[in-house]
Amino acid sequence: MRPSRNHSVRALAALVGLGACGFCLLLFLQRHSETAFGLAAVEESEVELRDGPLIVVDAGHGGVDGGAESGGLLEKELTLDVAGRLVEELRRLGLRTVETRTGDEAVSLEERTRVANSRGEETLFVSVHFNTSNSSSPQGIETYHTSPKSLAALAGIKKRYGIPRTSKLEDDRNRLLAEAVQAALVEGTGAPDRGVKNKSLRVTREALCPSVLVECAYLTNPGEAKKLKTARYRQTLAAAIAGGVEAYLSQAEQSNNRRFGLLLEGEPTVESVSAPDSEDHSRKEGSKGQSGTISSL
Ligand SMILES: [Zn+2]
Repeated sequence: MRPSRNHSVRALAALVGLGACGFCLLLFLQRHSETAFGLAAVEESEVELRDGPLIVVDAGHGGVDGGAESGGLLEKELTLDVAGRLVEELRRLGLRTVETRTGDEAVSLEERTRVANSRGEETLFVSVHFNTSNSSSPQGIETYHTSPKSLAALAGIKKRYGIPRTSKLEDDRNRLLAEAVQAALVEGTGAPDRGVKNKSLRVTREALCPSVLVECAYLTNPGEAKKLKTARYRQTLAAAIAGGVEAYLSQAEQSNNRRFGLLLEGEPTVESVSAPDSEDHSRKEGSKGQSGTISSL
């Protein structure tokens, strides 16, 4: 639901009253001035929602957990901003969405996963984060997935799809989604490609659905920090993530396989989803492993 202009004014006054930081206000003004003039807004009536999974959009951190911080940029504010834009972009594509948080509130990792697992319908999970480093030089985008998922998650997936408990199951959906999102982000932003990485993170490990965590940029890199302060770049990030989700869903729809990416023993793996003319991101898996905030998840 979009806020009305009156609502925006009241919310802005509340923010001022609370003494919110300057950058938080900057994000708010940029986002809401755009929606007020209809540049980034999506009218619900313009788009016919289509069949497909519910997309769970997860803004990393929140509340007392500010996440990474550098040069006046605070991760929890950036994730909320980009997640909101991502919701708009996904709805523009006709996809249904739900957010794990819509304000500055603390949400546990368990609760974030529960949103994805408790719906009783197909879901897809995208978590938005930003990175930091001890050095100012690292820059670029990396997308994480967890393969294989936990034993509990695999058991839940088998139950959901009616696969016998004794069957050996490989869940390839996470890698495929991660590669699609990473390819679209690199293509859309021109940022350095730090690759797709397989790591045991709670939100991607325990979700029963295809799930990824995107580290969109390094707050500690001066060039990326400067870009992140512009609404245009944050919008570009959101649009690119949505494009990656769309590419993954298109491939799944074309496969005519309800279990797309879920492989029983002996079944061939599915080829990666890549943006046109982009390089094979799967080759970069596990490379350039230096990360900042990711280790806390
Ligand atoms: Zn983070």
